[in-house]
Amino acid sequence: MITMVYCMECGKELSEDARYCSKCGASVKASEWEEFQVSADDLVGRVKELISEGNVSRLIVRNERGDSLLEIPVTVGVIGALFVPYLAALGAIAALATRCTIAVERRLPV
Ligand SMILES: [Zn+2]
Repeated sequence: MITMVYCMECGKELSEDARYCSKCGASVKASEWEEFQVSADDLVGRVKELISEGNVSRLIVRNERGDSLLEIPVTVGVIGALFVPYLAALGAIAALATRCTIAVERRLPV
């Protein structure tokens, strides 16, 4: 598994131990991004699994070309009824795609 870190401000890809973005100078230690390649069949299950880990603050689903298809802000309560429309959207993505990338923003312990 490759861990990648992205700047919160400008999205620049940074080395894992970077504390400040080399492009815009923003602090990047508050959270980190991780990416997972999944097959469409595993998409919904993987997203649920990631959300249940509890330290995820945002999920973005991308297709093979890298286009963002769906962004899920993970807030308290998104697991319940609020998550239903996202499940429907994930199902629609899974029906069209063969492989997807899930980008996950995690809160790091301060
Ligand atoms: Zn930046």
